[in-house]
Amino acid sequence: MSDAEAFDTQIAYLLERSAFYRAKGLTRVRLDEIATLPLTDKAEIRATISDEHPFGTHFAAEPEQIVRIHSTSGTTGVPSYIPLTAQDLDNWITGSSRSYAASGLGPGMRVITTYNAGPFAAGAALASFDRIGACHIPMATGNTERVLMAIERLKPDAVVATPSYAKYLAESGELKRSSVTKVLVAGEPGGGEPGFRAALEEAWGAKVTEAMGIGDIGVSLWGECQHQDGMHLGAYGFVHPELIDPDTEQAVEMADGATGELVLTHLRHRAAPLLRFRTRDHVQVKTSPCPCGRTGPRIRCLGRTDDMLIVRGVNVFPSAVREVVGAFAPAVSGNIVVRPKTAGVKQQPPLPITVELPDGAAADSALAQRISTRLREVLTVQTAVELVPWGSLPRSEYKSTLVQH
Ligand SMILES: [Zn+2]
Repeated sequence: MSDAEAFDTQIAYLLERSAFYRAKGLTRVRLDEIATLPLTDKAEIRATISDEHPFGTHFAAEPEQIVRIHSTSGTTGVPSYIPLTAQDLDNWITGSSRSYAASGLGPGMRVITTYNAGPFAAGAALASFDRIGACHIPMATGNTERVLMAIERLKPDAVVATPSYAKYLAESGELKRSSVTKVLVAGEPGGGEPGFRAALEEAWGAKVTEAMGIGDIGVSLWGECQHQDGMHLGAYGFVHPELIDPDTEQAVEMADGATGELVLTHLRHRAAPLLRFRTRDHVQVKTSPCPCGRTGPRIRCLGRTDDMLIVRGVNVFPSAVREVVGAFAPAVSGNIVVRPKTAGVKQQPPLPITVELPDGAAADSALAQRISTRLREVLTVQTAVELVPWGSLPRSEYKSTLVQH
């Protein structure tokens, strides 16, 4: 079935089964007219959750069809639930397997995973390693000695981690000459930032590729191939990607170099399908042919629109700040924190940035000035850079907090 046919069936299903989308005034259009349909925001879904509707009113299956219920951590502390039918779960694993296979995982390879998956959707991605035929060695963050010992004794080919934890592991042990040739990172932006990636590759003596998913839509939807030039859509056939301008909400063509917020639509989902779901991921599109032969647009995540600050009208992503600062390595450690002076998105310049120095280095005002100048050139933002000694910024064993209010 083509994407256009799958979409037509999906819309018919939503009109029949989804109270949420019927209430939204959904009409039947072709896939190439999708931009005429309303967007779906996470907050809208949350607003429909009640005792009677624990998943939200977009739940469209029969309760007995549900084989798995994941939870999201929820920024407000209240989790939301993600139900899946057997076919939904199978499609998730198929898409995720393609993404990890794109990154070079294959049958017989040993792979250590370090996701603290627990209730979260990331747990569904773990089945991809069985599907691929790899030897899966599940580990968790929180006992780094144990992970380092497994790397030494079990000699894995690959390690799967968040970028923060991959960096933390590299700072905790001598991994440059380990058996690991592939580090697969996901869960937060960073793996695609050239400076951050180069530092990780140097520390691990391994190739670093990134993957990306979003709990409400699917796990590891996108995965980067060995050419490291943006993530391919592993979930092709299951998910339709679009780009919008987050301010005007207008569609942006998926042309080479275009940037915008990623919007995703389920094509064959049954439990709680979403249409034109705003992911809050700000991405850049690449359409030039990839030497690996995979077709379709690739993306690179530039940051989360939730983390974005606006400094005198200029959009600033903390991950982009980290990327610019990271290019000063080895004169910097690569760890940074943005410390806005006031609450909220809008900030007055200069934006305070704390930059950590490498082990043994002392503060140097000329370096701080050079970093500030470079940030101004690349991101057109005026900053006040403070250099702090090695070890003074908090390390994360899961995901890094790049902004501290
Ligand atoms: Zn490729």
